[in-house]
Amino acid sequence: MSDNPLLTITDLIDFPSIKPEHVVPGMKALIEDAQEALKTSNAKETPATWDAVITPLEQRTLKLSRAWGAVSHLMSVCDEPKLREAYNEALPIVTQFWIGLSQSELSEKYKAIKESNEFKTLSATRQRIINEELKDFMLAGAFLPAKRKEQLKTIKETLAKESQKFSENLLDATNAYGLLVEDKSDLAGIPDDDIASFKEAAQAAGQEGYRITLQVPHYLAVMQYAQNRALRETLYKAYVTRASELDFDGRFNNNDVMRHIVQLRETEAKLLDFKNYGEVSLATKMANSPQEVIAFLRDLAKRSLPQAKNDMKEVKQFARDTLQIDDPQSWDLPFASEKLRQARYSYSDQEVKQYFTLPNVFNGLFGLVQTLFSIRIVPDTAPVWHPDVKFFRIENDKGEKVAQFYMDLYARPNKRGGAWMDNDRTRNRLYGPLQTPVAYLVCNFAKPVGDKPALLTHDDVLTLFHEFGHGLHHMLSRIEEPAASGINGVEWDAVECPSQFMENFAWDWTVLQNLTGHVKTGEKLPRALFDKMLAAKNFQSAMAMVRQLEFGLFDMLLHTEFDPEKDSILELLAEVRKEVAVTEQPAYNRFPNSFSHIFAGGYAAGYYSYKWAEVMSSDAFSLFEETGILNPETGKKWLDEVLAVGSSRPAIDSFIAFRGRAPKIDALLRHSGIKG
Ligand code: ZN
Repeated sequence: MSDNPLLTITDLIDFPSIKPEHVVPGMKALIEDAQEALKTSNAKETPATWDAVITPLEQRTLKLSRAWGAVSHLMSVCDEPKLREAYNEALPIVTQFWIGLSQSELSEKYKAIKESNEFKTLSATRQRIINEELKDFMLAGAFLPAKRKEQLKTIKETLAKESQKFSENLLDATNAYGLLVEDKSDLAGIPDDDIASFKEAAQAAGQEGYRITLQVPHYLAVMQYAQNRALRETLYKAYVTRASELDFDGRFNNNDVMRHIVQLRETEAKLLDFKNYGEVSLATKMANSPQEVIAFLRDLAKRSLPQAKNDMKEVKQFARDTLQIDDPQSWDLPFASEKLRQARYSYSDQEVKQYFTLPNVFNGLFGLVQTLFSIRIVPDTAPVWHPDVKFFRIENDKGEKVAQFYMDLYARPNKRGGAWMDNDRTRNRLYGPLQTPVAYLVCNFAKPVGDKPALLTHDDVLTLFHEFGHGLHHMLSRIEEPAASGINGVEWDAVECPSQFMENFAWDWTVLQNLTGHVKTGEKLPRALFDKMLAAKNFQSAMAMVRQLEFGLFDMLLHTEFDPEKDSILELLAEVRKEVAVTEQPAYNRFPNSFSHIFAGGYAAGYYSYKWAEVMSSDAFSLFEETGILNPETGKKWLDEVLAVGSSRPAIDSFIAFRGRAPKIDALLRHSGIKG
C-alpha cells in the first residue's frame, strides 16, 4: 500500500497529510491507472455496453478527478510556493489526459452503445448521459470526416489565439494608460482611499502626484465621485475607446480581431452543419433556439423600457436641478446617479452589519433549509486544512447521512478571493456501497475580532445564500450516476438557478427576522432600515436591466444574423441600442472592443444566460410567495423536482414539474421593482 494520501482516498480526504511532494507522483500514478482503463474501454474486443465501457472508466477517472480536486482545492485555500510548483508541474499532465480522452476512440464506443439493443434497456438517466456525451463529442468534431475534422481543429486553435490576442490588446491598452494629476484639488469629491491609491500608482510609476489608471476601481471612483467634470470626461473617453483605432494610434486595436473571431465561429458552425454559431452555443443549453432567446430578451426589454426611460429622466432632472449640469452627458450619469442614490436612500453598510452576526445568520440559514427540505444539519468531524474550517453533515428525517460539507469562511493570506462551491465527491455507487456527496463552501468574510462574533454585510449574506444554493443542488441529489448527479451536466444557462433562487430568501422580510439580531442588543433588523435596503437595491433597476438586455441582444444577433464579411459591428450595436437603450453615447464609444465576455470568455451567444437563470429563480421563488415562504410542501416540491434530479432530465422539464408551467418574467420584474 502506498503512503501517498492521494492514492488512498476512500472516504474523507486526509488534507493535513497531503504534502507538495505527493502531488506529481500521485497524479502520475492515477493517470497511468486511468489510461489503462481508457485503453481497455476503447479496445476492439471490449463489448459496447455500459458495464464494459463506462463503469470501469468512471471508477478510475473519478479517483483521478477527486484527488486532483483536492490538490486544486488546497491551491485555492492554502497556496504556498512548493505546492504551487507541484501543481504547475502536474497541471499539463492532467489536462493532457482529459484532452486525450475526448479525442480518443471513446466517441465511437458511445455511438455503438447508443445503437446497440442494450440502449433501450438502460435507465432514462443513463440514456440521457449517453446522448449528452455524444453531443459533446459531435461538437468537438469527433464524427466529422478526416478533412473537416482537421479544419475544425485549425479553427479552434486559431480561435483560441485570437481570443488571447483580444485579451492581450485590452489588457495592454488598459495598462498603457495613466493620467497624471498634479493638483489634489482636481480630485475633489473622490474618497480618500481612492486618492491614496492614485498616489501609490504614481509612486510605482516613478511620478509625483496622482496617477489615475483605467483599472475598474480607479475608473469607478472618478466616474461616481469626481466633482471635476472635465476629469470625468477625459477618463470616460479613455475608457470607452480602449483597444480601438482611436486609442494609442490603434496600437492595441481589436477591430480586426473581433471580425476574425466572428468569422471563425461562423465557419465552425458551418463545418458542424449548424446554421450559425448561436445554434452551436445553444446545442448544450436550456434555451432551444436563438429566436427563442431573442424574443425573450425583447420581451423583457419591452416591459422594462418605460421605467428605464423614467429612471433616465429622473437622473437627468436631478443633474440639472441639483447639480447644475445643464446638459448631462454619459460621463455625468454615474456621478449624478450616485448623488441621487445618496440623497434618497443613504444608509451605511456598517449600520446594517451590526444585525448580521455570523451565528445568527447560520441559525437562520440552517433553520430555513431544515424547515423547507426536512433535513438536519449537524456538526461533524473531518481532517481539515485550516483550524478555521468547520465541517457538517446533512441528515434526512430518518437520521441517515445524506451529505457532508466543509465551510471555510474567513479571508486570510494565501487564499484565493471570492466565494465558491466546489464538489469533492458526487453521489455514486461506483465502488459498491453508496457514497454520499461532499462539498466545499468557501467565502472570504472578515474574520471576527477578539471575542466578538463575525459581522456580515448584507452582500456577504447574499453570497453565503448563493453558494449554499449551489451546495444544496450538489448535496441533496438523489441521482447515483455521477455524470448526471448534482450540478454535473446541468445546462449552463440553468445551473445558476438554484443558487440565485436562495438569494431571494435573503431579501425576504420573514426570513430576515430569523436571520438577524443586533450584536449588542439582540434586536431584529428594523423594518425602516430594511425598506431602505430594498429601495436602494432596486434603485435604477430598470436602467440596469435594459443595459444587460442590450449586451445580451447584441451578443446573440452578432452570432446569428450578422455577416462578418459585409456588416459593421458598430452599426449592429447602434441598431440594438436604438431598440433597447435609454442612454445616448458619443459616437466615439467603442464598447465592443472591450466586451471580453463574448470575445475572450465563454459567453459567446451565451450572455443572455444571466437574465435567463434570474427569470427562472425569481419565478420559482414566487411559488413560495404564493404558498408561504416557509411552506415545507413547496420546499419538498423544489427538492423533489429540481434539486434531487440533477441533470437526469432537461432543466425545463424540472422547472415545469415544480412550477406547473413554463417560466414567466413577471416575478423577476416585480422583485426588481419594475412595474412592467
Ligand atoms: Zn453561482
